[in-house]
Amino acid sequence: MTVEETLAKLVCLDSVSSHANAEIISWLAACCEAFGFAIKRFPYLDDAGVEKSNLLAVAGADFGGRPEVELVLVGHTDTVPFDPAWTNALRLTEREGGLYGRGACDTKAFIAAALTAVEKIDLAKLKRPLALLFTADEEIGCLGAKRVAAARPFNARYAIVGEPTSLQPMRAGKGYALAEITVRGREAHSAYPQLGASAIFRAARLLERIERVSAELKSDQRAGFDPPYTTLNVGLVNGGTAKNVVAGECRFTLEWRPIPGQETDLVLNLVRNVVADLQQRDSDFVCEIEAARADESFETRADSPLVHFLEKTSHKTSGTVAFGTEAPSMIALGADAVVFGPGDIRVAHRTGEFVPVDQLNECVSILRQAIERFCG
Ligand SMILES: [Zn+2]
Repeated sequence: MTVEETLAKLVCLDSVSSHANAEIISWLAACCEAFGFAIKRFPYLDDAGVEKSNLLAVAGADFGGRPEVELVLVGHTDTVPFDPAWTNALRLTEREGGLYGRGACDTKAFIAAALTAVEKIDLAKLKRPLALLFTADEEIGCLGAKRVAAARPFNARYAIVGEPTSLQPMRAGKGYALAEITVRGREAHSAYPQLGASAIFRAARLLERIERVSAELKSDQRAGFDPPYTTLNVGLVNGGTAKNVVAGECRFTLEWRPIPGQETDLVLNLVRNVVADLQQRDSDFVCEIEAARADESFETRADSPLVHFLEKTSHKTSGTVAFGTEAPSMIALGADAVVFGPGDIRVAHRTGEFVPVDQLNECVSILRQAIERFCG
């Protein structure tokens, strides 16, 4: 099959994150077995009780122990939903050098390129083990890859994580963390505020201090990021019940994106210190902090052989990504991880997402060279 035919097949297999992914995983499993890989599925039930699977294919090692893989190519099988009005979402359509369809860019193009690169390689002749990893639930928090990292079915030395980067190797990325904070007060008639305690005034004091934390975070910087420090955002505030009631409760979300080398929970700990300080001044100050998410940042050193190789073959210097990826999960498996793939992230997740044909073909060539360089 050509890379375009493989991509067309992948696009027609509807794999929106909310659905079971058995169909696309079965197709990929059959493909990998035909190429000579040993395969293993890792099924699980997602939070909605829907069955999902991650698929691992290994050549040059068996599943007896924990395979030590030299290179793993990682692609997520799920896509974001699509507008029903996009009638060709599941039918790959070519127009002016672009291939259009849901997932064509993010990230089925990378999967098609990986399969095509592998097809032309004699796996029996590889000197070091090669793996393909196809994951579920990336678009809803990299959940499939996190499960793989927790189960640790293999170790890897190098990982290329497929994402649309316009074929620029991305060797680092900020993390993503979220907490929900509830400040409590005591309701009262607003004519007699001394009988209550305003949760909104308390939250305002806390927010003012959080803004100061945000300013302090600017002093710790990492080159190559825009902006080069950990950013923080309070995106939602909700409190009170009526204009003439002293507010009994105020809730807000706190989101931050930590730079590599900083603990993911650093901000949470700074906020906890602020709360402790406010409680010292006001013994009645009640605040609950619920950590909702903590995705690690990642960084692969600039002199990693994988970074060098991808910079040389793509003719692009390495950069950093601003969005969450499966790279931290691969680093947890011991790998130098680089995010890399055809297509532009700015067209991903949109109606009419596409991958340029020339980038798709170039990706096949680069992945084939990567397999020869690291496993040949
Ligand atoms: Zn993606």
